[in-house]
Amino acid sequence: MLVMTEEKSKVLIVDDDPTVLQTICSYLNVHYQLSIAKSKAKALELIKGGDFSLILLDVNLPDGSGLEICTEMKSSFEYADSIAIILMTSEYAAEQEAAGLRLGAVDYVYKPLNESVLLARIALQLDIQRKTALLSKLANVDGLTEIGNRRAFDFQLESELNRARRENKEVALAMIDIDCFKQYNDNYGHPAGDKVLVKLANTLRSQFKRHSDFCFRYGGEEFSVLMYDTNEVEASRLLLKCLEAFRQLKLNHDYSPVAPIVTFSAGVVAIPAKDTSVSELVKLADECLYQAKLEGKNQIKSNLTQLA
Ligand code: GH3
Ligand code: MG
Ligand code: MG
Repeated sequence: MLVMTEEKSKVLIVDDDPTVLQTICSYLNVHYQLSIAKSKAKALELIKGGDFSLILLDVNLPDGSGLEICTEMKSSFEYADSIAIILMTSEYAAEQEAAGLRLGAVDYVYKPLNESVLLARIALQLDIQRKTALLSKLANVDGLTEIGNRRAFDFQLESELNRARRENKEVALAMIDIDCFKQYNDNYGHPAGDKVLVKLANTLRSQFKRHSDFCFRYGGEEFSVLMYDTNEVEASRLLLKCLEAFRQLKLNHDYSPVAPIVTFSAGVVAIPAKDTSVSELVKLADECLYQAKLEGKNQIKSNLTQLA
């Protein structure tokens, strides 16, 4: 079943023929929010600044070809993979069609265009796009706390380490574990425990807002934070600020031997990426976390610092 949402999807039409443009616009106008480009240069400029869901792209343009636009989009725009490209042409050329599909176009249509066929093809691609986005969200986001899950963490840590190796930077990792959470669940019940997990996730989200900080639910009552290009002292300071914000929520925990409120412990490490690996970073942060637990919980521990 095709699902139509309230908000109109943004569609870019790229064609140099005014008659074709007028015809397509008359077909799509009611259904989509339209932008128009009559050249390759204008199309790339609009794609760079816009957030289009779909592009109807003429193969032959005065200053280049639609296939070139596909290639340039792939190499220059991070969000290119999420845009559906439908190529259009007047002449049937099997090799060109195959090349377009290989470059990532999702469909290929021939002019003259038929209104209902074009509308159906566009609606189908947008529906696939929505479902793909939903699947990707379900695969990478923790259902309870709505922050990244373990799978997202593994992927992000690997890719941030690779980036940091190229840029000769260090990556900081914090492993966080709620203190005495079993007692909390045992005494207040799992639904109340779930609310604590959501509150900690929200605290992490609001404390780590930099574009290069990433928060995850690692599993159970354990969370992790990845901080790009951050040294150990700074990362520990940020974690302490976060612990203080979480303590400020004053979530009663009458059964914790550590404090009358819910607290957490965290282990923090930062290492130049060229000298470490995913598994070593996690292992070292875990060791610091273990040490924080041993030394009384409700604190941040790194190899260099201990903050409470
Ligand atoms: P420590 O201070 O040493 O970390 O002790 P702890 O009690 O926090 O750790 P332990 O590993 O003994 O218990 C973890 C608890 O976390 C037990 C489990 O029921 C709870 N937990 C894990 N996932 C969830 C969840 O999704 N929801 C709720 N409510 N509880 C969870
Ligand atoms: Mg634990
Ligand atoms: Mg715990």
